[in-house]
Amino acid sequence: MSVQDILRNKGNKVFSVSDKSKIREAIAMLNEHNIGVVLVMNKSDKLVGILSERDIIRRSLTQETGFRDELVSKSMTKNVLTVPPTATLDQVMEIMTNSRIRHVPILDGDKVVGLISIGDVVKKKIADTEQEAAALRDYISS
Ligand code: AMP
Repeated sequence: MSVQDILRNKGNKVFSVSDKSKIREAIAMLNEHNIGVVLVMNKSDKLVGILSERDIIRRSLTQETGFRDELVSKSMTKNVLTVPPTATLDQVMEIMTNSRIRHVPILDGDKVVGLISIGDVVKKKIADTEQEAAALRDYISS
């Protein structure tokens, strides 16, 4: 199972902000779409960072007032771990587990073509388990 198969169901929509955006715009996007991260893109539409709700919480502790008016680039993670569309779900799970992250962008070359969250992984694993159980039930009863 490649991440491309998951994207086929989920779609390619990824929420992103420009690296010139302020934290308050990112917070509004996270809240409006009920998501945990936004990707940060430069003016050439290249991925330059990822900003998670955790980064915002961390920044709000070190900079109690005024942090909402800072640029996202100040709080984002710049070294983004990504996978190509051909990566397997197991590879994504390994990255998430080893690096303790819940989101992995999918890059085709340098173009963002999707994002897999830990929620997508769990959903797929549950669907697979249910399918296996149904196949076993069919096998036993036939
Ligand atoms: P998350 O668990 O994904 O909400 O993010 C936890 C921390 O890891 C935050 O500091 C994020 O900026 C960072 N992070 C999230 N996803 C990635 C990623 N794919 N590559 C690198 N850092 C990430």
